[in-house]
Amino acid sequence: MNYRATAVVNDGVRAMMESALTARDRVGVQDFVLLENHTSEVAFIENLRKRFKENLIYTYIGSVLVSVNPYKDLEIYTKQHMERYRGVNFYEVSPHIYAISDNAYRSMRTERRDQCILISGESGAGKTEASKKVLQYYAVTCPASGHVETVKDRLLQSNPVLEAFGNAKTLRNDNSSRFGKYMDIQFDFKGAPVGGHIINYLLEKSRVVHQSHGERNFHIFYQLIEGGEEDLLRRLGLERTPQQYQYLVKGQCPKVSSINDRNEWKVVRKALTVIGFSDDEVEELLNIIASVLHLGNVQFGGEDGGNAYITTDTQIKYLARETSKNASVIGLLDIYGFEVFQNNSFEQFCINYCNEKLQQLFIELTLKSEQEEYEAEGITWEPVQYFNNKIICDLVEEKFKGIISILDEECLRPGDASDLTFLEKLEKTLGGHAHFVTHKLADGKTRKMMGREDFRMIHYAGEVNYNVNGFLDKNNDLLFRNLKEVMCLSENKILTQCFDREELTDKKRPETAATQFKNSLAKLMEILMSKEPSYVRCIKPNDAKQAGRFDEVLIRHQVKYLGLMENLRVRRAGFAYRRRYEIFLQRYKSLCPDTWPSWDGRLVDGVSTLVKHLGYKPEEYKLGRSKIFIRFPKTLFATEDALETR
Ligand code: ADP
Ligand code: MG
Repeated sequence: MNYRATAVVNDGVRAMMESALTARDRVGVQDFVLLENHTSEVAFIENLRKRFKENLIYTYIGSVLVSVNPYKDLEIYTKQHMERYRGVNFYEVSPHIYAISDNAYRSMRTERRDQCILISGESGAGKTEASKKVLQYYAVTCPASGHVETVKDRLLQSNPVLEAFGNAKTLRNDNSSRFGKYMDIQFDFKGAPVGGHIINYLLEKSRVVHQSHGERNFHIFYQLIEGGEEDLLRRLGLERTPQQYQYLVKGQCPKVSSINDRNEWKVVRKALTVIGFSDDEVEELLNIIASVLHLGNVQFGGEDGGNAYITTDTQIKYLARETSKNASVIGLLDIYGFEVFQNNSFEQFCINYCNEKLQQLFIELTLKSEQEEYEAEGITWEPVQYFNNKIICDLVEEKFKGIISILDEECLRPGDASDLTFLEKLEKTLGGHAHFVTHKLADGKTRKMMGREDFRMIHYAGEVNYNVNGFLDKNNDLLFRNLKEVMCLSENKILTQCFDREELTDKKRPETAATQFKNSLAKLMEILMSKEPSYVRCIKPNDAKQAGRFDEVLIRHQVKYLGLMENLRVRRAGFAYRRRYEIFLQRYKSLCPDTWPSWDGRLVDGVSTLVKHLGYKPEEYKLGRSKIFIRFPKTLFATEDALETR
C-alpha cells in the first residue's frame, strides 16, 4: 500500500489522534503501531479483543487492515458508509475495508499504478466476504461509462456462480471456498470499470466424489436438485431427492438449515445469464453436473470416475469487449491461508507453499517500497531484521533438489516408486536442511514424536508435519486415457473445451499437479509484483461460527500464522509518519516563536528550527529532501497535544 499517497494530512491525523486518545481505554487503538508495548503479543491480542467487543472489527497495522469476523451482520456496509469513505484520506475515518478499497482506487487513479488487494486468513476468517465488499464498493462508487452497467453486474454476479461451483459447506465454514481466486478489474482512463478476469487455483477436486462427515459437495449439485424447474430436471433425468445420489450423501448432511438451496438456485441461474452464458450453454453445463451425479450412482468394482469434474482448472473469463490499452487494474486475491491440521497432506503442502510465496512477496514489496522512499528522500536506510523465507521457497521449488522436483521424479520413475520411497529420497537429498526434518536423526537414532511417514517443514510461520500418504497419486492426477478419449468424443461444447483432442495425440506426459501449481503461482507472483499491494488479514474469532465469542487461543494461533507481529515490527522499524515540509510547518508553526507567524527561509530549516524547539531528539526524526520522517507515533501525538493545549 502506498503510504505516501495517503500522506497523513492535517485534519485526518487530528481526528485519529483525538479518537485514539480519548477512547483508547475502551476501544483500544485503531492502529497497532500506536500500541505502547508493540512487541507484546498479549497487548496485541488485548487490543483486538477490546475492539471486537465494541463491534470494531477492523484495525490497522500501518496500512495493513486486520479484520476479525463478527459472525453477524453489522450496519457498516451501507451506501452511506461507502460515501463516507469515498475520496477521504486513509486516516481521517475509522479503519474499514472500504478505506482500503478507496485508497487502492485513488492510488491507481492518481499515480497510474496498478494495484492489488491481497486477502489472507484461514478458512472461515472472512476472506471471501471481504473480497465481495471490495467489489460492491467499486460497483457502487465508481463512475459509469458506456457499457459499465453490464460490467458492474458481471463483476457482482460472477460471485454466486463461482461459489456455486467452487464452494461447499465444511465443518469450518458453511460457505467455504474450495479454491484460490485471483480476480482483476480493469478500469478505463475515467476510472470506470470496463472488464475483468478471474483465475482459479487448486480446486479441491476430490470433494466431488468424497465428503467428510458433516460436509457437503459443491453447492451447485444441491441447488440444481432443490431448485431446478420440473421439466429441466426431467430433461436431465434427475429426481428432487438429494438423498438418492451417492455423491451428495457421503457427509450425511445433504440438507442444512443455514443454506437455502432453492433460493440460491434462482440467484445462480440468473447470474449465469448476466455473466454471458446462453440458455443452450447453461443446459450443457447442467448436463455435465447431472452426469456427475449419475456417474456417482453407477456401481463400479472399486474405481470411481469422478475425476473428470469439469470446472477443474477452468479459467472463467468474462471480458467486456477486450479494453483500451491504458486501462489500469486492481487485482483481488482471495486465497487460502496457512493450514495446520492434525493430519496434513499434499493439499496443505501446496497451500502452505503458496503462503510462503506470498510472504516472499510481502517482504519484497513492503521492504522494497519503504527503501525506495528513503532513497528518494536521501535518508539512510537502516535495515530491518527479518527472516527472509526465500530459503523455504527454494526448499520446495528448487530445480533438481527441491521437494517438488523429488516428488515429480518419483512420480515418473517406473517400478517400485511409492510414497515411502519418496520420503526416503527426501531424507537423502534434504536431510540436514535447516527447514526440513524427518524422524531420522543424523546419528541414526529416531526422533521422538514424529511419524515414520511424515516429514516436517519449518515454515516461516511455524512447524508443520506432512504425512506422505497419497502424495504420489495426488501429484500424478492422471485421468485414464480411455476416459479422456470418451470425454473428447462428447458433443457437449463445454466438455470439448475442457478436454482438448490435441492432448490425446500429444505424447508428452501432462504436468504433475504440484508442477502445475508451482507454475501458476510463479505467474501469479509476476502479476502481483508489478502492482502496488494492500493487505487484508482476516481472523476467525471462534470455531463455532458464533457472534461475540473471542477465543484467545485460536486467535493467538492466527496472529502467529498470519505473521502479524512481524508485520508490526517491520512497520515500526521504519518511520511511522512522514509529512511534506510545507504541510508540517503550516500545521505546527504556531508552536515556536521563530516560525510564527511565518518562516521566510528554506522549508527544511524552518522544520528543523521548529522540531528542535519542540524538543525532538535526533533519533526520533530524520529530514529528507522534501519530507520530515518521524519514527514514533507518540512524538507526533505529543506535538498534537501541544497544539491542543497551547
Ligand atoms: P473465508 O472465505 O475466509 O473462508 P467467508 O468469507 O466465507 O470465509 O466467511 C465465513 C462466514 O463468516 C460468512 O459466510 C459470513 O457468515 C461470516 N462473515 C465473514 N465476514 C463477515 C462480515 N464482515 N460481516 C458479517 N459476517 C461475516
Ligand atoms: Mg472463502
